[in-house]
Amino acid sequence: MKINLSNIKKAKYFLDNDECVGVPTETVYGLAANAYSNKATSKIFKLKKRPKRNPLIVHYYCLGDVKKDCHINEKFLYLYKKFCPGPISFVLKLKKNSLISNNVTNNKNTLAVRFPKHPVLRKLLSNLDYPLAAPSANVSNKISAVSKMDVKDEFGNKIKYILDGGRSNIGLESTIINLVGKPEILRFGALQSEQLKKILRFKKKKIAKNIKILVPGQDKLHYSPGIPLRLNVTKPRPHEALLLIKKKYSSHKFNFYLSKNGNLKEVAKNLYSTLRIIKKKKFKSIAVEKIPNDGIGEAINDRLMKASKFK
Ligand code: AMP
Ligand code: MG
Repeated sequence: MKINLSNIKKAKYFLDNDECVGVPTETVYGLAANAYSNKATSKIFKLKKRPKRNPLIVHYYCLGDVKKDCHINEKFLYLYKKFCPGPISFVLKLKKNSLISNNVTNNKNTLAVRFPKHPVLRKLLSNLDYPLAAPSANVSNKISAVSKMDVKDEFGNKIKYILDGGRSNIGLESTIINLVGKPEILRFGALQSEQLKKILRFKKKKIAKNIKILVPGQDKLHYSPGIPLRLNVTKPRPHEALLLIKKKYSSHKFNFYLSKNGNLKEVAKNLYSTLRIIKKKKFKSIAVEKIPNDGIGEAINDRLMKASKFK
């Protein structure tokens, strides 16, 4: 994708002035602010209606930059070399002399860091004197945004600028791994846990058990289109929107295909945008057919499970 330098300049101008800016990443769009500024990062919480206790992921350009703020360890270096820039976030120990705003960490001594791959965001990061705190660009617990228009839908003119980077290529949030103490996956995501399990020799039952400790009070409902959503449906109700993962005969009236042939990467890429379309069409509920738990299917099912908690 061609990078428009005058757009990068505009985004930098607003960020330098403690404003929030919508930014593209390969996973989903982020709502970004200067991670060293209390003023800028407090605006993220206000705009997203995000509880203060929920810490933010900070986006860095390179290893040298993250070393200013965090203690790094061998496991991190190994995974960084293998997967970064890419769709994985690491929880590391914060350095005492780090400039990261306390808003970002909720006054804790850990920091979640990521190295996004999107060329537009990388160009922006390389022009800044600070890293970017950037949670997903959506109102808390709602569906993430995968295009500039989605971000506009979420925040209207409450944010000053959205940097356009086209549609997010992956369409699902990053995998989060805790590297303080024994490695653990805190959130399934775009980087598949099978790859991590093999490298770090996880025992299956150790996965994701710590979430509540590190992210206190995180709601079970998340990624919600704001209408009821049913999983593993074989018989949709007449007025439901039905999500299918491949083209096939269906006597149901309202079918939405996430992929032509059951390609789960395509399903991930189309999931949030299709949920937004369904919501705009004013359906009252959504039925989803069973989605295999293989590869990225694990993260897709995690999101759908949380979306299904809407009552
Ligand atoms: P989002 O805000 O949608 O980008 O999601 C970011 C996720 O990262 C949330 O679930 C946060 O609670 C989690 N997170 C951010 N910082 C930390 C941290 N220091 N430790 C554990 N989880 C974190
Ligand atoms: Mg989010």
